[in-house]
Amino acid sequence: MDKIYLNKYILSYSDILNILYYLEKTSNKKLIRENTNCYTTFNYKIETFKIGNGKNHVLLIGCTHGCEIITTYFVLEFIITLLKDEKLYNSLKNKFTFHFIPVLNPEGYVIVSSNLSCNYKNITNKKLEEISKKYISLYNTDDFIATHNIKEKKLFLGIIKNNLQNLSNISLRKSVECILKKCNLNEDYLSIWTANGLGVDINSNSIHKFKEMKQLRKAQKYANLRYNDIPVTKPSPMSYPGIKTFKDCPENFFLYNYIMNLYSLNCDEKLIAIFSYHSTGGEIYGYPDMLCTNASQLNLQLKGMLEYSKYTNYKLINEKLKYGVMDYYRIKLNDVLTLTIELSRLNGNPIAPLSNIDTFNKEIIANKKAVIHTIENII
Ligand SMILES: [Zn+2]
Repeated sequence: MDKIYLNKYILSYSDILNILYYLEKTSNKKLIRENTNCYTTFNYKIETFKIGNGKNHVLLIGCTHGCEIITTYFVLEFIITLLKDEKLYNSLKNKFTFHFIPVLNPEGYVIVSSNLSCNYKNITNKKLEEISKKYISLYNTDDFIATHNIKEKKLFLGIIKNNLQNLSNISLRKSVECILKKCNLNEDYLSIWTANGLGVDINSNSIHKFKEMKQLRKAQKYANLRYNDIPVTKPSPMSYPGIKTFKDCPENFFLYNYIMNLYSLNCDEKLIAIFSYHSTGGEIYGYPDMLCTNASQLNLQLKGMLEYSKYTNYKLINEKLKYGVMDYYRIKLNDVLTLTIELSRLNGNPIAPLSNIDTFNKEIIANKKAVIHTIENII
């Protein structure tokens, strides 16, 4: 648990799949690939895996937002740790079954990582740190300028060289090109793409408070801070919720069915916790909508948040409008701890968290421990 197994941080979508398939093949049936048979609009299969045979089921979700590549890295590192750390595996395998969705948003991941891979395919970690440092510094300057309500060309966009041609899936490329054009944005914005290939943000395409969220976006018109030139009321790189829940968002529909399936397991089997990963901020979102929550669920959420923060020191956030995709499950599922974790304290997707890899690794280790510690304490 105290070490990092995966020392490569810029991974293309096919790198991710190859690692997972290789692990499955060589794991002696410890890692099982599930067959969900669910596909995104542009035909990417949403892959899920599981480890363990315990009656307590736990779900880890990475990459709801395309540019949050470190969340997929974390899920992968977590899987590898369970497979390689014999002692840990043996202590957990009969108590828990871990389920993994390493990439909930394959299209978003492909849009961002195709360009990152072309830029930094064989980069050393030292060089990656240097570039990421520069990136975060410009990013912060952009934020500073944006707080004065100024819309000018963003400095951070010049660092990663993006090109639509790096997207090999032609229909996905055409869709993205069309969205950028209609938003009056250029290819530079590919590296901060959070939505799916149709420009719908999975997190905003929520079940809970969807109407309120649409109203909020209508009032906002554009995204926050350094993203103040990105529209949020039509298909765009980020924060557009779509026309209605599940529409143009098969990823969200898949997630709903996958979670409900785990929730309805019979006999002794029980879904006990869901951890949905985002970046960045070093925060924990777990306060449920008080109006729709019973006391025991609220207590579980509070306990889970406190346990998780013991290892990470992440801040507990009680946001006013609870519209995110996990907010529905926080109130709908009884006795299931449902947390949304913002990995990394460094702002600036996709690469800023990698500006100090040593610190990043320590945070990843802390989060691995936090998951294990939290689930051990809620059963
Ligand atoms: Zn996010």
